[in-house]
Amino acid sequence: MSWKSFPKVELHLHLEGAADPAFVQGLAAEKSIDIRDIFDENGAYKYEGFNEFLKVYEAATLALNRPEDFKRLTQSVLENLAEHNVVYAEAFVSPDFCGGRDLGAWREYLEAMQEAHVDGVTLKGIVTCIRHFGPDKARETAQCAAETAGDWVVGFGMGGAEDIGTAGDFSYAFDVAREAGLRLTSHAGEWGGAQSVWDTINDLKVERIGHGVHAINDPKLVDYLAETGIVLEVNPGSNVALGVYPSLAEHPIAKLREAGVKVTVSTDDPPFFHTTMTREFEQLEQIFGWGVDDFKQLNQTALEAAFCDSATKKLIAKRLDMS
Ligand SMILES: [Zn+2]
Repeated sequence: MSWKSFPKVELHLHLEGAADPAFVQGLAAEKSIDIRDIFDENGAYKYEGFNEFLKVYEAATLALNRPEDFKRLTQSVLENLAEHNVVYAEAFVSPDFCGGRDLGAWREYLEAMQEAHVDGVTLKGIVTCIRHFGPDKARETAQCAAETAGDWVVGFGMGGAEDIGTAGDFSYAFDVAREAGLRLTSHAGEWGGAQSVWDTINDLKVERIGHGVHAINDPKLVDYLAETGIVLEVNPGSNVALGVYPSLAEHPIAKLREAGVKVTVSTDDPPFFHTTMTREFEQLEQIFGWGVDDFKQLNQTALEAAFCDSATKKLIAKRLDMS
């Protein structure tokens, strides 16, 4: 069946990574920024492997250099979410790409993002530091997050190249965010192994893990995740597109779930990975036979793990019940 109209919750979505390539190309043309070589002949993003993906991702953000651009970007992301009936989403946003971690500029970008609106879709922000930019910049990012924590900025996280440094290098940044009342998540166990997930839990004290799929190689970690209820933001289509797993059939999401780990499903950077939330659901149905009850349970897990306040959760629960 098509899962397009089935209501959904998405917790792991990079705002810049959700930018439609045509939108980025249009902006670049308006500003005479030459980033032609990041697109293939069909206008899709062109990269091979994770490191090149990061470079293309960062090149695409060159076209997004004014608060107004982020308003338009957020508007188009909200429209895409609405098209797939994603009623609630949390987007990773990086002050690194919004005024270079200058607090005044960051506030302007943030205000612009919040001007975007689509009825029936609620979007919240998770301020995200970029691991391969290093711990000093992560600290500045955390300070931007702490200063703007509130109704829209509900969390703090870390993305980027997992093989740079250790999780512990970033504990100061995460402490700053935690003290400001922000909820915490971090990418780990995507390219790194189970140890990277352990380090992230122990040193950054996160309640969610972005990806975390390599936990499957450590039965003790699987048990620990199941016992503590730490939630994995799993992105199956992303993992297959980037070659973390050769196919969805070999992806551990079903095994993790069967072992009692709380899993959710997201798209990560949908146009880069040629995916949508609808496609993720369709693939999970096709490969693992998941149906309405499974997807309702995924929604429930995602809603419980969402970083928004309880009034927002009540509103979202109502939208999910309308299916
Ligand atoms: Zn991600």
